[in-house]
Amino acid sequence: MMEYHELDDEDRDLIRAASDAIERNYSYPRHTVGAAVLCSSGAVYVGVNVECCGYGPCAEPIAIGRAITEGEREIERIVAVGGPSEPHNVLSPCGNCRQLVYDYAPDCWVILPQASRIVKIRARDLLPGAYGDSD
Ligand SMILES: [Zn+2]
Repeated sequence: MMEYHELDDEDRDLIRAASDAIERNYSYPRHTVGAAVLCSSGAVYVGVNVECCGYGPCAEPIAIGRAITEGEREIERIVAVGGPSEPHNVLSPCGNCRQLVYDYAPDCWVILPQASRIVKIRARDLLPGAYGDSD
């Protein structure tokens, strides 16, 4: 069920963190997207996508990988933004990233655009019938 929710200040702070990450590191065509995750510890981790020969990890797995590397185990929110300059557009996660977020944190809030608004939805609600979903 697609149950979208309004953003709060923590969501807006996370969008800001992702925007800052890509603002600092933008380099077309290799680094065009920034992502930020908020963990249960309260820490925020950011990442930018990396690309070679037209393929490479999205920004979301980079940010999630950084969080895990630092010992985080509970991811509460995630967002990705793109573009060379502000305002950076909030991006909807690709299919691979939806599955990745679902695998690591099915109850994680995913911030994304929906019908020209920015909203959030639980990862499990964003990927109905996900691989590995036995419910
Ligand atoms: Zn992706």
